[in-house]
Amino acid sequence: MQLLRFVRFVILVSLVIKGVTVSNAGNVKVSSPDGAVTVIVGVKNHQSFYMVNYHDKTLVTPSHLGYLLNDGELGAKTKMGKVMRSQKDEIWTQPWGENDTTRNHYNELTVNFREHTGLSMQVVFRVFNDGFGFRYILPDDRHGKEFQIMDELTEMTLAHDAQAWSIPSNHTEYFEGIYHTDLLSKKDTVCTPLTIEYEKDLYLAIHEAALEDYASLNLTPRRGKGDTVCLLAALTPWRSGVKVYAKGQLKSPWRTMIISPTAGGLITSNLMLNLNEPSQIKDTSWIEPGRYIGIWWSIHKKQNTWEMGPSHGATTENVKRYMDFAACHGFSGVLAEGWNPGWGQGEKISYLESYPDFDMDEVTRYGLEKGVRFIGHTETWGNATLLENQMEQAFSWFERLGIRAVKTGYVGHYFDGKELAKSQYGIRHYRKVIECAAKHHIMIDNHEPAMPTGIQRTWPNLMTQEGVRGQEYNAWDRRGGNPPSHTVTLPFTRGLAGPTDFTPAIFNFSEIVPGTHPHSTLAKQLGEFVVIYSPLQMAADAIENYEGQPALSFIESCPTTWSRTLVPNGEIGKYITIARKERGGDRWFLGSITNEEARQLDVALDFLDEGATYQAVIYEDGPKADFEHNPYEMTIRRISVTKADTLHLRLACSGGAAVRVEKCKN
Ligand code: CA
Repeated sequence: MQLLRFVRFVILVSLVIKGVTVSNAGNVKVSSPDGAVTVIVGVKNHQSFYMVNYHDKTLVTPSHLGYLLNDGELGAKTKMGKVMRSQKDEIWTQPWGENDTTRNHYNELTVNFREHTGLSMQVVFRVFNDGFGFRYILPDDRHGKEFQIMDELTEMTLAHDAQAWSIPSNHTEYFEGIYHTDLLSKKDTVCTPLTIEYEKDLYLAIHEAALEDYASLNLTPRRGKGDTVCLLAALTPWRSGVKVYAKGQLKSPWRTMIISPTAGGLITSNLMLNLNEPSQIKDTSWIEPGRYIGIWWSIHKKQNTWEMGPSHGATTENVKRYMDFAACHGFSGVLAEGWNPGWGQGEKISYLESYPDFDMDEVTRYGLEKGVRFIGHTETWGNATLLENQMEQAFSWFERLGIRAVKTGYVGHYFDGKELAKSQYGIRHYRKVIECAAKHHIMIDNHEPAMPTGIQRTWPNLMTQEGVRGQEYNAWDRRGGNPPSHTVTLPFTRGLAGPTDFTPAIFNFSEIVPGTHPHSTLAKQLGEFVVIYSPLQMAADAIENYEGQPALSFIESCPTTWSRTLVPNGEIGKYITIARKERGGDRWFLGSITNEEARQLDVALDFLDEGATYQAVIYEDGPKADFEHNPYEMTIRRISVTKADTLHLRLACSGGAAVRVEKCKN
C-alpha cells in the first residue's frame, strides 16, 4: 500500500515536471471550473502557442496561434503582454430548443501578443468542464483602415492519431455528404464539425461558434512529430484568394473542442451555444416552433412539378387540401415549393407575386381560419443579391399575410456566380436575410446554408437549417439513397452544429429510381422524428401516404421544443437513443434508431419523476420487420412504467422505435 502510494507520487511528480518544461517560461494557464481541462498559453521561439491538458494527459500539444495578414504576420515574432482573467457562471433561457435553461460556466483567460512590427492580437480562451473555445481579437491597430486576412494560422495538434468522422471540404456541395470514418491523418481537408473517437471513453468534436462576419472554417490534417496529427485552419476563400476583409477591430469566431467521456456527451454539450451572444430579439413571443407538412416529397418523387403546368404542386386547390390535412392532424404549417413565378429561370424569379394558379391571399386566409400558417419559400439558385433586393418588400408582404416562416434555398455552385456560400461573402448574405426576416417577424429555415455555428442563440428566428444530406436523396439518388448508418451518424456529426432540417417521416417507400428509397423500417422513420432535432420539424411525406396510418399518431403528438434532452445510449454510426421532455408538460418522447444491425436497446427510465406512474406507448418494429424485405411491419404496445423500470426496445435491422411516455393522473 505504502509502496503503491510512493509509486503514484513519483509518477505524479514526473508528470508535473514534464508539464513544467513547457510551461515555465512565463507561460500562463487557465483551467475549467472542475479542473479537468487546462489550457496553457505562451511564446516559444518567438511564436505564440497554446496547449491543452485533460486530467493528467496532454490532449493538444503546443500548437501555433496567429495570422498572415496583407500587411504583416501575427504570432510569428511575438512577445506576450498583459494577461486578463475572468469567470462566469450563469443560467440563460432559450425561447425554444433542446433544453429550456442552459448553464454557462467557464473560466476565461485573455492573452495579449505584440509583434516586433507593432501589430498586436488578443486571444481569449474560455474553458468549460466539457471543453474549450478560443477566439482572436485583432485591435484597431490601423485606425479604421481596411486590412485583409490572407490566412489564419491556427493549429490544433492532437497528441496522437485517432478514428474520426467527417465530410470532405472539397467537392461536397452544400455539406450534403455521407460522413466517413478513417484515421485523422489519412483525411484530406475536412469540414467541421469533426468528430473524433480519441481513445476508449474519450470523444472530441472540433467546430466553430459564432461565425459572424468571417469565413467558414475547414481543417487540414497533417502528420506531425511522432504520432501527433496537426489540424491546420483552412478558411474558405473569396474568389480573390483573400480569406477575410476587415476594418477596425476584428473578432474571429470561436474555435471549439468538446471533450466527453461518451459519444452522447458531445450531443448534450452546450458549449457552442454558450459561446454565441445572447438574443438580439427582445420580444420572441412570435417565434413558434412546430410541425409542418408540405408539397415537397411529391415533387422529388416526380408526381408534381415546381413549375406551373399540368402537374403543378403549388396550386390553390392542392395547398388548401394540405391545409385541411394539417388542421385535422395537428400541423401548424404547410410549405409549398414552386408557388412563385420564374422557377428554374434563375434571375427571373420573383418573390413579390405568385403563379396565376396559386392565389396567395386566398390560401393564407384559408389556412389562418383553420389555425395553419402557410410557409413561404425563396429559392434563389444562388442569386443572393436578387433576394437581398426583394426581401424587404417580400417579407413585409408575407408578414401582412400572416406568414411566419420562410424556407430559403441556394441551389447553385456559387453565390451571384462568383463566391462560395461558406465564404465571408455568403456569411454576410445569410446574416442580412436573418435580420430582415426578424424585422418582419419571420422565422427562417435555411437550405444550402453555411455550416451552422449556434447563431440561433443571437437570432432565435433562425430556426433550422439544411447543410445535410437529407431525405430527398432517398427519392432520386442514383446510388441508392442514404445508407442505414446515415441517421445514426448525423446526431454525432452534423447534429452537433445545431438544428437540422433533414425532413424525416417518410411512410411510403415506393421507388422512381430502382433501389432508391428510405433504407429503414417505418418505426425508424418515427424514431428519427425525435432523434434529429429541428424546432420546425417536417413530416416530409405526401399527405396521401399518411391517411389511415396508425404510425401518424406518434407524429401528431410529438413536440418540437423541449425542456430537457438526454442521450441514454449511442455509438457513432451504430445506434442512438435520445429522450426529450416536452416544455410545459410531463410527457417524455424517446427515439431509438439503429444501423443495418438488429439490436435490443435497454433504456433505464431513471429520468422519470419519483413516485409517479406513467404509460409508455411504444411504436416499434414488428417481430418480422426488416428494412430490406418487410419495412412496414410495426406494432404499438402500451405498458405501465415507473422510474425504476427499464424499457427493452427491439430494433430490426435498420429499424427503430419511438416512445411516448405519459404521466398517469393519480
Ligand atoms: Ca437541398
